[in-house]
Amino acid sequence: MYDLFFNRNIPDKIDNTMRAMFRTCPRKYMFFRAGVRTKIRPMYFTWGEVWHEFLREWYTLEDELAPQNRGICTEQYYAAIEVALERTKILWHKHDIIQDDKNNLVTLEETARRYCAEYPSEPWHVIKGAVEGGFVWPLKKYPGFIQDYYYGGALDLYIDWPQYGQLVLENKSVGEWITQGVIERWDYSNQVWGYSWFLHQLTGEAFGVLVNIASKLTAKAGKTPKFSRVVVTKTPYALEEFEQGLVSDILYLQHLYETKVFPRSSDAMECTGGMGRASCQYKRICRTSIPLERIDISQFPDYIITDEPWAPWERQRELEKKEEGEKS
Ligand code: SF4
Repeated sequence: MYDLFFNRNIPDKIDNTMRAMFRTCPRKYMFFRAGVRTKIRPMYFTWGEVWHEFLREWYTLEDELAPQNRGICTEQYYAAIEVALERTKILWHKHDIIQDDKNNLVTLEETARRYCAEYPSEPWHVIKGAVEGGFVWPLKKYPGFIQDYYYGGALDLYIDWPQYGQLVLENKSVGEWITQGVIERWDYSNQVWGYSWFLHQLTGEAFGVLVNIASKLTAKAGKTPKFSRVVVTKTPYALEEFEQGLVSDILYLQHLYETKVFPRSSDAMECTGGMGRASCQYKRICRTSIPLERIDISQFPDYIITDEPWAPWERQRELEKKEEGEKS
């Protein structure tokens, strides 16, 4: 495992997932970068991925089922929900799934139907052809950098909202109640901040990010909502701060590689999980008393090693390939 990790150089493309990982737990980053994955994918991950797929279908259906043609609570509107759900379920059934009380097909379908009832129409529309876009953007060569770096990621959908202009629509699913704290969280999220930063580099003027939040929990009447939305905007100064923070974290990553020390998280909740927070997928392997350099992943039946690189910025190309494949 140790060799697998050090055979892979320090990456030149950094996204928010990697950044959050090496900042909160360099040891977790090390397992991840070595290609160690659990054999069975975490269920919350599949639920979130399929939820994204549902929304992508719902907002981009073609012909009479398309948002601009279906009307509110019409025959086409209900037909569109069923078509989007059926297409979404194909992705669900592709995975080996061990369902739990929150992450299952019933909660997914219920959430989808309630979402469509909550937002039967929108004051904005999805910009055609700009679906699930991967991106990478070069950083300036800062003092201390040992190579060129790029910041990357993948955006869900781009929308045009006449009142504001162009925004990113970022779909989020959470396994907790949507409290005020959950709504405010996205204003502090480096991931959302990074989207604003990228859009600003790209266009010099994008307005911000519409964060579209859904809870997997069944909301009780009069208590917290099942859905909420918040528009996150950043000033040019805040975007500069984002870049400075990113540079500082990259210098820290270089330091980890230089010293070859990848310490464990200092927050035990990062390992065991807690309210609204999943446990670490590496916690079984991490607890072993075998020295890191002698860990043999084949001795841990729950894990595999993958060669597939982590590259969410490639997603646009994957979609294009899929669409090309469907046409041929
Ligand atoms: S179990 Fe804890 S220390 Fe180990 S990799 Fe996961 S978060 Fe880090």
